[in-house]
Amino acid sequence: MTAPREKSDALVFFGATGDLAFKKIFPALHAMARRGVLDVPVVGVARSGWDLARFVEHARSSIEQHGEPDDAAFDALAARLRYVDGDYNDPATFSRLKAELGDVERPAHYLAIPPSMFAVVVKNLAEAGSLQHAKIIVEKPFGRDLASAQALNETLHAFVSESQVFRIDHYLGKEAVQNLLYFRFANALLEPLWNRQYVENIQITMAESFGVNGRGKFYQETGVIRDVIQNHLFQVLSLLAMEAPSSIDADAIHSEQAKVLRKVRPLSATDVVRGQYRGYREEPDVALDSKVPTYAALRLHIDSWRWDGVPFFVRAGKALARTCTEVLVELKPAPAVVFPSAAPAMGNYVRFRLGPEVAIAVGALIKKPGDDLVGKPIELSVVRQDTADDMDAYERLLSDAMRGDATLFARQDSVEAAWTIVDPLIAVPREAPLEYEPGSWGPVKANRLVADIGGWNTPKS
Ligand code: NDP
Repeated sequence: MTAPREKSDALVFFGATGDLAFKKIFPALHAMARRGVLDVPVVGVARSGWDLARFVEHARSSIEQHGEPDDAAFDALAARLRYVDGDYNDPATFSRLKAELGDVERPAHYLAIPPSMFAVVVKNLAEAGSLQHAKIIVEKPFGRDLASAQALNETLHAFVSESQVFRIDHYLGKEAVQNLLYFRFANALLEPLWNRQYVENIQITMAESFGVNGRGKFYQETGVIRDVIQNHLFQVLSLLAMEAPSSIDADAIHSEQAKVLRKVRPLSATDVVRGQYRGYREEPDVALDSKVPTYAALRLHIDSWRWDGVPFFVRAGKALARTCTEVLVELKPAPAVVFPSAAPAMGNYVRFRLGPEVAIAVGALIKKPGDDLVGKPIELSVVRQDTADDMDAYERLLSDAMRGDATLFARQDSVEAAWTIVDPLIAVPREAPLEYEPGSWGPVKANRLVADIGGWNTPKS
């Protein structure tokens, strides 16, 4: 019944007057127009009471604020824009949409709307006859816990098959994250070392130097685990820890990601330290007694042949000392036989900087110049300079979804496996998180998680 791999012949986006559309979707469409790859109608659906001219004006101000305005590209985008006004609860909105789509056969429907609206929109699309051969692109968050994610999947699957669903995790559209997959499996270098025999531990850090930036209402509902750990950082973890896929086919990659996430032990309270930056409770729309964590550090165990006994650490937080996302794979030290006193705590490692810049580095020891055979740590690093042509994550993801390439989208099984890991933490009533100073590296008590491995990796500037 479906042809998800065929190119879509229209993009319909719900939530066309929303924040995400303004910040990300219009700029992505504009960038696609500039590349000359936007060749289908783009239909915005919202209930603002606007007409097409007002909608085009809205697109223009979005690009002026968030894009790199280019008159020719904007004209090309504006020529593609259509607008349908109406409430998503009203079936008449969907009849108007159907009429606007005319002879379009394979639309991609992008649900840039609150998850509570997914079911009604998909149901109304189905009843209007607009779902056959369609793709459904859904925004994060995909559920609030395992049960709600499963319920959402059931709702979608009542109307469309899994191959029609494209779950956005914009993190997967990032160049640096894709490079993890590429670097691991395009080189023979790492594979002999990439296991419990040689890897001491793996740390994934996502630090933001800013707070919730006025998004207190959103953050109160979310917290750090739902916002970035269950989705973005577990996707990174799965790319680091998975087995080689049989091909670059999306299903082959997703199967390996899901397989390794299912091997991660569900978290218990002793594996986690939560924090909240001082001042969070004074942010607009945040409760004065809020227990929402803005920081979490986790110690994870993967019960697999490759990783048994290797601790994985995931740490994320707001209002930390630096904005930076980094993976550090620490290797076991060489036997202290030939140079017993030379090895510092961490001699050999592989470091992936995922943002703001993109870098790969290998840590090694070399001899210090001089008479004695004494070592010093050095780093062989490559920082990517050729970023001029990098696609923004949303541009890449929208282009991929419309082409039917699901590689950079999350599949049902890995989303559910990721919720299974954090579910024990979010299902129980919470103790208040530990307060930490803005500009620090989070609560000092988080150090207990890494006491046996010599401490946290602190990403350098
Ligand atoms: P907004 O609340 O800003 O926008 C929601 C949009 O949906 C608005 O256009 C709103 O129209 C429309 N809408 C809601 N209910 C109806 C209805 N019954 N009929 C017609 N239109 C309706 O949300 P965001 O843009 O911030 O978020 C959208 C999705 O993207 C969410 O799932 C969010 O989690 C996700 N997301 C957002 C990010 C962001 O930075 N904003 C980042 C990552 C994901 P109206 O204004 O008229 O009510």
